[in-house]
Amino acid sequence: MAGRGKRNYATREFRSTNRRVNTVRSPDQPSTSSHQNCEEWNDNLTELSKQPFTDMQPGFIEHRAWFDELSTAWNQSNNDLYITTRLLKVSYNSSSNPYRTALYFMCESPDFRTGKTNSLSSAVMKAFEDWLKENTSRKFEISFELQAEAFEAVGSQNNSHLTQLVAEIYRLGNVGEHLLERVKQMVTMRDYKQACLFATLLNIQKHFNINEFLVPLLLQDRVNFVQNYLDKCPEQQEVFVQFIDSMCTYEKNAFQIVGALQIPDAKAGKWNPRAFKKLGSRLMKLYNISPEVCSNISQINNIGTLKYLLHKKYTEGNISDEAWEEMIEAVIKNDVGLQVELCSLLLCYDDLPCAIKCAHKYNVPRDQLPETLQTALEDREKVNYLSYKSGQNENWDDVVDPEPSNDHMYHSLSLPFSAIVNVVTKQQFERMLDAFQVANVIGCDCEWKPGAGSKLSIIQIATWEQIFIIDVKVILENNQLDQIDPNWKIDAKDWRTLALAVFANVEIKKLGFGFSTDLKMLSQCLPECERLNMETKNLLDLHGLTQKLTVMHPEIFLYDFPHSSRGLTDIVGMCLGKKLDKREQFSNWDNRPLRQRQTEYAALDAYCLLEVYNVLQSRAAELGIDLDLMMNIRSKKKTKSPNSTSENGPHSSCVNSTTPCSPHSSCENSITPPPPCSPGQFRVVVDSMLQGLGRQLRLMGVDVKMVENTDEPQTALRIGINENRIILSTGSSFEKFLQYVQPGMCHHVNTASTQREQAHRVLNCFNVQVTTQDIFSRCPKCNNSRYIRVPSEHVRQLWQNSSVLSKMSLFKTPLWISYENGKLDTLNLKTDENAVIQFDGVNDELFKRVDLFYICATCGKVYWEGSHLKRLVSALKNVVISE
Ligand SMILES: [Zn+2]
Repeated sequence: MAGRGKRNYATREFRSTNRRVNTVRSPDQPSTSSHQNCEEWNDNLTELSKQPFTDMQPGFIEHRAWFDELSTAWNQSNNDLYITTRLLKVSYNSSSNPYRTALYFMCESPDFRTGKTNSLSSAVMKAFEDWLKENTSRKFEISFELQAEAFEAVGSQNNSHLTQLVAEIYRLGNVGEHLLERVKQMVTMRDYKQACLFATLLNIQKHFNINEFLVPLLLQDRVNFVQNYLDKCPEQQEVFVQFIDSMCTYEKNAFQIVGALQIPDAKAGKWNPRAFKKLGSRLMKLYNISPEVCSNISQINNIGTLKYLLHKKYTEGNISDEAWEEMIEAVIKNDVGLQVELCSLLLCYDDLPCAIKCAHKYNVPRDQLPETLQTALEDREKVNYLSYKSGQNENWDDVVDPEPSNDHMYHSLSLPFSAIVNVVTKQQFERMLDAFQVANVIGCDCEWKPGAGSKLSIIQIATWEQIFIIDVKVILENNQLDQIDPNWKIDAKDWRTLALAVFANVEIKKLGFGFSTDLKMLSQCLPECERLNMETKNLLDLHGLTQKLTVMHPEIFLYDFPHSSRGLTDIVGMCLGKKLDKREQFSNWDNRPLRQRQTEYAALDAYCLLEVYNVLQSRAAELGIDLDLMMNIRSKKKTKSPNSTSENGPHSSCVNSTTPCSPHSSCENSITPPPPCSPGQFRVVVDSMLQGLGRQLRLMGVDVKMVENTDEPQTALRIGINENRIILSTGSSFEKFLQYVQPGMCHHVNTASTQREQAHRVLNCFNVQVTTQDIFSRCPKCNNSRYIRVPSEHVRQLWQNSSVLSKMSLFKTPLWISYENGKLDTLNLKTDENAVIQFDGVNDELFKRVDLFYICATCGKVYWEGSHLKRLVSALKNVVISE
């Protein structure tokens, strides 16, 4: 035993104390801060002998041996934390300086330097941490010497969790300044990771600049260390992100930095400007760093926005000219570089007149413009093109061809403009609340400026008589002003009233369209509405409802709009005859005052929800469709018992999930069950998160294609459409798929139940008749349904040969033997589909009781009729088998 565990973890110079720390003293070695002796250790062992470790030999006199026993116990108990912790606590209890004891144990653990997380050394410290919590009344001195030893010890290993734990227990943060020199040494030694970790743990960040370890770690591609450090060091966040910003141009590159700082193991090739920009943008957002201090990243982002705006204008054509100009203005401001960029981009879209106008409007230095534009400008001047030369006609609005007046194509607000009420003062706010008290249904929407980091601009709430536009931006800005009359101020209490009297009021039905995003924005921007997501009751999201209706009851819609994206504009078209004009949606909602068109758009966006709902309600009444069944009302969802399925009959899964489920759209009413079919005829594809269900269905003979976790998210949809299979999906994927497939081709699975129950419900829903013959008629592994039936004796020979044959790599001429349903190459052990026979689970015992084996032709897996199958059949007998 003495030969093991040379203590060599702390051989470095320890300067700040001017002494060498070579070892952690054993707990029984004399020390200035604690005194222990062998007697104490013998006491420990007496204690230990009372523990349930009966195989432990009594009579040690040395703690060393005691600890070896503990290591053995740790290994033998298969790293059982519970047993080890109990043993450790006994010794901490009886130690006069448990801090030293724990440190000693940690260093003596054979796995101390392996860096493993589940190690004895970690267990030692965790047990000690527990023990300290249980013994808060006992006070122990931690000498600086001991702290320094703890520091050296964890500094010599790589498990950062252990390092953190020790730093906490031994309160290294209190003596950080004394250990500073050692951390500086780590930097000199280019041990950046440890230096970075300790700088945080010792709280000595201010002594280091970003080049000492942050930049090196970044270029070594250890971003998570950098980020952990910055999270706890706000002072250096901006400086570091500025460094990244400086790397986003092609003038500087990572190789230069690596050379200058002599960083070993750097991955400079990976760090191109694009990679820096990506990380920089992320950190800017994370640490809330102003775009002004990161000019390069902002410039790249702004150019991206310009490109997007041009795409919207010229390719998609779904933005109004005013909205477009506004958004361009907001990006460009006074930046000459962006002005030039805009002119060049306009040329790319062949809009020379607009490019010329921009050049004039911003008075862009001529020599910076693209040559084509320079020439064009000169040409026009030469022919004395008055309207451009005089400079009088520089109104931007005249530049772009006036938009053809096609307002008649779009749905418009049936209320007069005066019905739109702007809410900025307390009085207006209170009148609005009064109006809601007599409304039983309201339409809700929110707007904010597009782009990252935007704040909520307005909330629109429509009743049948009025549309209220709550100007959140102005209200919040006013509240910052001192001179505002307190009687005018809309304060926290008022927002709370709105939340409780309207959103949480079950009497008022709230209509929204994709309202969860709005709720998120509301809760982020108004602290009083933080919990609105949970509080809102009786919310009907028309997006969810209309998605389901387009699949299950397309006849409910009065107008046909094929090839639509099923956004609000289409739904308005399908219900009201004309689409909704969305060209103002993407505009600068931070401008004040809002343009009339913006205001009208905002008002109509909320008001049309009432109109749509009205049409749906009356149509549903005409057609006898139960809208309530399909509604996704929050308050109702909660009252529904998740276990009510068995009482609801076979079609319960459809009712509960309020989603379509069978080729028969009225399935939820159980009026016409689909015609019965066999499992083999029932062809499905299951989405990646439902593989368990897929295997269950295969066991019952259903033809199942499975989507793997590694496949693209659209795979199930593609297979479903290409192979005409019913798609089984759940969650957001289900909602997505629904938009692309024929009614009934996508089925929602409620994952709250077990896989067997899920399978049961799917089979019931589609009226699939399972017989005993169907069970195991399909290979659960590969979905093939052809098994080669091989007598026991032959399988035994093949199996015995397999161990010998597998060692011979030479291909041999096949030796085919025919069996029922196919043939086997008995020399190379392959099926007629060239699959190697898989004998997993086959053993000698089997051949005594099994007469016939089934070998899957496609994957080669060997099956037999064993107790497993019998159990399965009897388990399924009552639930699925319909004989
Ligand atoms: Zn198979």
